[in-house]
Amino acid sequence: MANQMKSNYFICRNITEVFRAEKSLINAGLTPKLVPAPPGQAGPCTTAIEIAASFSDEAVNILKQAGISLVKVIEEKDNFNELSGFLNDTPDGFFRSALVNILRGDSLNLKDIKVLLASEGEEQKLLWHAADEVRSRSVGSVVDIRSALEFSNYCRCNCVYCGLRRDNKGLPRYRMSKKEIIKKALEISQDGIQTIILQSGEDPWYTTARMIEIIRGIKETTGMKITLSLGQRQPWEYEMFREAGASNYLLKIETTDPSLYSEHHPGTSIEERMDHVRLIKRAGFITGCGNIIGLPGQDVEDIAKDIIWFKQEGIHMLGIGPFVPAPDTPLEKLGHGDVGLTLNTIAVSRLICKNSYIPSTTALATVDENAQLKGLACGANTIMLIGTPAQYRQKYQIYGNKKMVGLDWAIQIITALGRKTPDYIKREKVSSDE
Ligand code: SAH
Ligand code: SF4
Repeated sequence: MANQMKSNYFICRNITEVFRAEKSLINAGLTPKLVPAPPGQAGPCTTAIEIAASFSDEAVNILKQAGISLVKVIEEKDNFNELSGFLNDTPDGFFRSALVNILRGDSLNLKDIKVLLASEGEEQKLLWHAADEVRSRSVGSVVDIRSALEFSNYCRCNCVYCGLRRDNKGLPRYRMSKKEIIKKALEISQDGIQTIILQSGEDPWYTTARMIEIIRGIKETTGMKITLSLGQRQPWEYEMFREAGASNYLLKIETTDPSLYSEHHPGTSIEERMDHVRLIKRAGFITGCGNIIGLPGQDVEDIAKDIIWFKQEGIHMLGIGPFVPAPDTPLEKLGHGDVGLTLNTIAVSRLICKNSYIPSTTALATVDENAQLKGLACGANTIMLIGTPAQYRQKYQIYGNKKMVGLDWAIQIITALGRKTPDYIKREKVSSDE
């Protein structure tokens, strides 16, 4: 159980200043935490230093003496007072008290999180409503739209659930060349999209030098922000990719339970995975993580622990999706993860990790046509399009029957919810290869 007092967020000019400030505060005996900055208020730096409000003045002085100037100090919003109105309709009981505790931000209590995750019926509606309110107050009504370019389906790993696992010998494999990747990135940027997610299996054919050339090429040609989702790389590569111009890195933890993790990821450990997520954050990346809901053997307590871990690590982006059976894998015959539980996980994550970006995932759209819209209505604020060229899409089979989320679908569900499409989207309709 971690106690959470009221906090202030310190905003610095850039991530280098954040690290400098953090060091000065630690040396002075304080306990700063690096967390996602409150969107919209923070300016260019997306990582803030969280400090207990009672130590805020002292911390400002320490930084002044160290010659570090802050852009601003933001006080944490009081969600409870703003949101307590609709709690009037909630009958007394375990659910109400769990929701009150979490909205107050007093404590991260495993029991409360489990109660909320397990909610159904009227209580579930209230949970989703609360998460939608917190989403609106913390990250606003615009739904961010990003596009994924799945550039290689070769993978050296053998994740039990994934169709790209190395033992899946029947899957035709492909790799896109640097030229192809940059050409496609340019097309994606012409729709106005500002962030491209470069995703692949763990494929060492893309050496450090090749990846750097690709990152630089996309940056120079399109100016887009680049998210990398390449799996685990050599520890020293993260800083090099960051310096080359990538700004975000997505590495899902999948599950924080040590034995569940090892069962699904032969030959690796949860400690190793956690180390990589931390290395990524230390390299100055806007850090994406997330989990899979419905892995065989996983229970609600495991998921509750995942959410606590996301909060403790100050993760900027949370990809939460149901398990979807993939053909030709050991789990191909299992049913998909529960949609209600996935939506509850999104909602509780929003209540706890208020300022994080949370996509309504492709996996949700794959298992249920309406689920991606529901995800946006219970805490999510981002959609990822599939920008992979048509000839490769069917081969990027991380799971079966993947929904090819495109721009017109995204606009349709955003509009249906009365939410806003981003100003940077330049057109209403999508390209012909959708
Ligand atoms: N190789 C990289 C990126 C590609 S896989 C990596 O593993 O990080 C991207 C994500 O797909 C994984 O993080 C995992 O959460 C998800 N995934 C893979 N197979 C899945 C399945 N069968 N059901 C649900 N999600 C799956
Ligand atoms: Fe490879 Fe990623 Fe699939 Fe694991 S989840 S097998 S690392 S593509």
